[in-house]
Amino acid sequence: MTVIRSIAQVGEPVLRERARPVGEQELASPRFQAFIDDMVATMRHANGAGLAANQVFEPVQVCVMEVDGNPRYPYKPKIPLTVLVNPVLTPIGESTFANYEGCLSVPNLRGVVSRFAQLRVQALDRDGRALDFEVRGITAGTYQHEVDHLHGALFLDRVDDPTTLCTWETFRRHREADFRTQVEAVVARWGS
Ligand code: ZN
Repeated sequence: MTVIRSIAQVGEPVLRERARPVGEQELASPRFQAFIDDMVATMRHANGAGLAANQVFEPVQVCVMEVDGNPRYPYKPKIPLTVLVNPVLTPIGESTFANYEGCLSVPNLRGVVSRFAQLRVQALDRDGRALDFEVRGITAGTYQHEVDHLHGALFLDRVDDPTTLCTWETFRRHREADFRTQVEAVVARWGS
């Protein structure tokens, strides 16, 4: 039976811990597989685009992502359900874009963060198989946000211009139309 876990809110020390790598045997254990199921269920329950294990009080290197008609981020391109274990992200090139981010651990606040537009992703999947692929554009922003959590970082740390900070309501009222235009340009250039 899956359990909806409680989500750590900004100020919880676990959000500032560096998550530890997951061992092969530990990953294969029924207990750990059930934990991954809980993370997926918790992400979906909260309408998150992603969730990192630190956010449910377990500082281990696992994050999950999924985007498909997300009500929090209606403009985000789809991401199929993805589980990354022990992920390493390497930027490809130096192109960046401005991403308006929010976080399940930072209630009612959004801000603009600079993200690499293209990444190499190396990780294990939930069955312990090695993954090695590239992601681009808005999707690459989501990957960087989730893997930052595993390093004890929050998007707040990367907001260069504090005047971009807004609530979800003021985002909708004053920022969303412009940002949607920017998202369209990123998707046109990077394909996602
Ligand atoms: Zn987050």
